[in-house]
Amino acid sequence: MLIAGNWKMFKGPAETLAFCREFPPPDGVDVVVCPPYASLREAMATGLTVYAQNVHWEREGAFTGEVSAEMLLELGVAGSLVGHSERRQHFGETDETAAWRAERALEAGLAVIACVGELENERERGETEAVLRRQVSPLPRHERLVVAYEPVWAIGTGKTATPAMAQEAHALIKSLLAVPVLYGGSVKPENAGELLAQPDVDGALVGGASLDVESFTAICQTAARLSRS
Ligand code: PEP
Repeated sequence: MLIAGNWKMFKGPAETLAFCREFPPPDGVDVVVCPPYASLREAMATGLTVYAQNVHWEREGAFTGEVSAEMLLELGVAGSLVGHSERRQHFGETDETAAWRAERALEAGLAVIACVGELENERERGETEAVLRRQVSPLPRHERLVVAYEPVWAIGTGKTATPAMAQEAHALIKSLLAVPVLYGGSVKPENAGELLAQPDVDGALVGGASLDVESFTAICQTAARLSRS
């Protein structure tokens, strides 16, 4: 079971250090935090496993604002998110560029959590399966690849997919690509148990609730308890 905290554009170096010093990663579950680039070094200094939130597909070059896999590895970062819906929505990320990022990062030696998920109107139109097929199919098969199913309508909205919806999407993704699949979208201590108990849910990508030590700890403890049972 893997629990990853996506901090988005929250927590500078000082706040990151304070969080990581206070956060006790529970035994029996793999825990990763994904701070902003500016705070990666502070998070790593505390011994936690740290992923970036994005990574470019080129080693170096004229790509202002981007960071390469080699640079992250030199810093000691273990992996990266790619294709998060906020990157798709606000920064022009596509299925193709997300796959390039994943492929190069894996090749360079990073672990990757590739995010996929349908928009609300796509679900309403019955297009969830087609969207997931389109997003998952360009991703490379790799032992360090994990997919996060994050229905976009559930991210930061307080709306959560039902455990049955999550299970159905995860089973589909796994039929396309044999990799662990995390659920993401308003995961909180109150709903983590029923989502993580689904047979094809291998962990969670947690946004808002990962910013608070108490709620992130509670989610990690739930995952550890379920892993033991
Ligand atoms: C995310 O940012 O990946 C996410 C799932 O956010 P939240 O948990 O806040 O919905």
